[in-house]
This record gives sequence, C-alpha cells and structure tokens, in this order.
Amino acid sequence: MFGKKFTSHIPKIEKKSSSKLTGLDNLSSIFKSNSNETKSKTVLEEFHEEDHKIVSQIDLPPTSTIKSVQLIQEVQKLNDRTIIPFVDYNEGKLFYPILSKIGEVQDNIEYLDNLVADGILEKKIYEKLIVCPIHSDTFSSSMRLYCPKCHSMGVEKLNLFEHKKCGYITESSNFDFTNQEESFCPSCKKPIKNFEKEIRVPAMWYQCEDCSEKFDNAVIKLHCRKHEHDFDTNSGQFVTTYCYKLKNSEISINSDTNQIKDELLKLLEGFNFTAKLNVLIKGKSGNVHEIPIYGKSKTTNESILIFIKNQPGGIDQTDMNSILVPKLDIAPTNTLLVTVSGINDGVENLAKHYEIHLISEPDFSKIISHVEMFVSEWYSKNGGK
Ligand SMILES: [Zn+2]
Ligand SMILES: [Zn+2]
Ligand SMILES: [Zn+2]
Repeated sequence: MFGKKFTSHIPKIEKKSSSKLTGLDNLSSIFKSNSNETKSKTVLEEFHEEDHKIVSQIDLPPTSTIKSVQLIQEVQKLNDRTIIPFVDYNEGKLFYPILSKIGEVQDNIEYLDNLVADGILEKKIYEKLIVCPIHSDTFSSSMRLYCPKCHSMGVEKLNLFEHKKCGYITESSNFDFTNQEESFCPSCKKPIKNFEKEIRVPAMWYQCEDCSEKFDNAVIKLHCRKHEHDFDTNSGQFVTTYCYKLKNSEISINSDTNQIKDELLKLLEGFNFTAKLNVLIKGKSGNVHEIPIYGKSKTTNESILIFIKNQPGGIDQTDMNSILVPKLDIAPTNTLLVTVSGINDGVENLAKHYEIHLISEPDFSKIISHVEMFVSEWYSKNGGK
C-alpha cells in the first residue's frame, strides 16, 4: 500500500540528507504548502509515477496512494494535525468524518490503522468513555446526583460568598448577580464588577429540596440514557476512543529548524556579529519580545532580527503581524523572515511596506545562501565593518 511506497521513499531522502541541510526537502514538500495547488499536483504526479514502477513489482493500486496523500493534505489543515473521532452516543459508534473527503466510509477505522502500521499516523488515546456495564453498545451516560438520605434527585447546590473588600459572608442566594453590569454587595452596597476577583467562595454544600437535609457529598450515579437506568460509577465499563496524529512532519521540520538556526548563527558570527538564539529583547515600549535569532554588529550599532516560520498553508498575514509587532518595537536595522513554506497573497506587499525581507526557499541550504547574500551585501555597504 501507500506505506510501502512511502517507506521506499525514505532511504532516498536519508542519503540526500548527508549534506545536512538539504535533508528534508522531499519529505517536507509533501507535508507543506498544501494551499499551493500546483505544488500539490506535482507531489501527486511524483507519487503517481513512482507508483507505476512499484505497481509492476508488487502489484499495488495507485489510487490508494493518491488517497493517502489526499488524506495527509487534509490532516495538515486540522488542529494539531490530528484526526479526532466523532461519537454517536446513542448508537455507540465512532466516526472519522474526514474519511468521506477521500471517498472512504466514515467508520473505516481499519483504513486509519493501516496508516498507523505504515508509520504515517500515530494512534493516541482521545478519551475514555464510561459506558453502561449491561448495554456497552451505547455510549450515552450522564451523571446524576441524589440525596443520600431520601434518594431524591431534587438536590440543590449551595455556596457561601464572601465579599473580599468588606469581608461580608452570606449564602450565595443573597447576592444578586442577574444584572452583570450592576451588582452590589448586600452589606457594604459597593458595586461588584469582577465576580472572580472580588468574590471568594469559602464553602460549598448541597441541600435536598425534599427532605431539607444538608450534606457535603451527594450520591453520584451514572445513568444509561438509552435504556433508562442508573448504574454505579465503579461498575461502568471503559470504552477507549482514539485520535490519529500525523507523524514526522512536525518533528522533521522542527529538527531542521534547529539546524538552520545554528547555521544562521554561525553565518552572522562570521560577519562580525554577536548573535544569539531565542533571546529576549526589550523594545522601545518596554515590552519584551522573544526573537529566534538576534544579531548585533560588533563594530557598528546595527542589528538584525531573523524570524523562522514554517506553515503548511503558507505564510499569511497573521504570521506577518506576529513579526511586525517586535520589529516595530525593537526597530532593528534589518529584519528577515525565512521560511520553507509558500507566501500567501498580499503578504509580500505587507513585508515590503514594513521593510521585512522575505526569504522563501523550498530547501534549507538555499535559505542559508540567500541570507548570506543579504548579509554580505549589507556588510560591504558598511565598508566591511
Ligand atoms: Zn444500560
Ligand atoms: Zn432528601
Ligand atoms: Zn461588601
């Protein structure tokens, strides 16, 4: 399947990565810039072509590969690159709706498990559901509170509230918070604007509305919703649901990011800069910003900020804004943004306007040489200082 093809891809990359910086380009080209249509297409074609070679050897349908690539591209758009399950509590079924985007049925868990076996996805526990011990085919249970004395469900929660400013303590029902804008302490009559800051909850208990019993702990039962009966929390069974996280991409891109940081640091030092990684710099406003790479010339008062960002969907305005804030506040001589990702529409103009030099190259060694060109030009303008 896709995995065999995929793994057959890896040794090739590893050979290439002996030159240290060119490493990830092939693999990362799969994982990044899915917003860029032409690139995605090239990737697909690459896979397709290779498939034909492999098909002849080990008889694989090329469509499964294309599907898996499509799935990877879909997963890249997700939060934390993780496929989370959708639970039908009544029917006791798990779905992964993303599967429908590649033409698979939504409960084809085997498909995802195969990608785990292939080393593309990583399976992780998403949650443990407590289900009815008798009807474990339904996942729907809710918590119910009962009075320990008369077993009524008419249990009310009572709190004491303390107005911190004046020390007045009373039952929460004596405070009126219905109007959030205008609440007053019933004792000192001062306005209460921020509940969390101004009110302390020194005590909490329950009261039964039927027998008036007051108690600290209500009896907790779980209720099987479909078959309408209670069961003890300890007798419940566990059903584990799983999520699937895309492997490799992040780790590889991050480790390469560390590598590129080291290279850039050496480069700046070679041009007579004091350079630091992940350093905190105070701006004109007095605010402190964390800068991935900060360089200061040893001979002139000039400085440079270098930001590194890799975004599967391409660098967008939000990324630029996060750079713009420290850039404007610190006001260095030069600011660079380097990335292996694509640049989205409008970002280039924004960068130009605020004098942020964009370097977008598909591979890290090209980024390094581009930065080197930039710094050496600047250096020679200063007469080699
Ligand atoms: Zn049940
Ligand atoms: Zn009671
Ligand atoms: Zn008060």
